[in-house]
Amino acid sequence: MSISNQLHKIKKTIGPDVELVAVGKRQPDDLVRQALEAGQRIFGENQLQEAMSKWPDFRAKYSDITLHMIGPLQSNKAKDAVSLFNCIQTLDRKKIIDACSRHQSDLGHELEYYIQVNTGAEDQKSGVLPQQLDDLYIYATENAGLNVVGLMCIPPVDEAPGLHFALLNKLARRLKLNKLSMGMSNDYKTAVQFGATSVRVGSALFGPRDQS
Ligand SMILES: *Cc1c(COP(=O)(O)O)cnc(C)c1O
Repeated sequence: MSISNQLHKIKKTIGPDVELVAVGKRQPDDLVRQALEAGQRIFGENQLQEAMSKWPDFRAKYSDITLHMIGPLQSNKAKDAVSLFNCIQTLDRKKIIDACSRHQSDLGHELEYYIQVNTGAEDQKSGVLPQQLDDLYIYATENAGLNVVGLMCIPPVDEAPGLHFALLNKLARRLKLNKLSMGMSNDYKTAVQFGATSVRVGSALFGPRDQS
């Protein structure tokens, strides 16, 4: 199936009120171009280096692209990230919050941010633990002045995602945040049922990624 058909199919499934973040990581430029030609403008990348080599050229042609950082971020790379992305979904510690805050005021433009929550409390996974979320949220908004719009999570691979989506939804409501970035190719339909406002879909749109 063409990228255009696939895009329409996914959009129909999620409905008009849910944002589709097309995840172009490790996909050939030609497929990303096809998505752009089919009208998609919101994209996600999980690696800064790859994003920096790919998106300036596309932006020269399509000025209305919105880019989301969905991967882990190092504070010494925050300047580049804040310059390239419109939204950073992966705030999870004070150091990265400070770095984003400093660089966005230097550059004079404001981004949207999500706090990533490690809902499964997995050792190897990024994200703040649920019990530390309130502190980090207050730090990001009141101390650092960041525009935090919502929460993001990646459920453990071996657990039913719905429980994690429900938890993220509950945490967001408590903080009066109305955006929820949750759901990937395998579970975006479930995520929408649990209130996702944004889904991050890669392989279901573009096909399997380059594994190298
Ligand atoms: C790669 C990635 C996605 C997309 O994964 P698919 O399973 O291909 O849809 C979504 N979110 C994050 C954080 C990712 O790193």
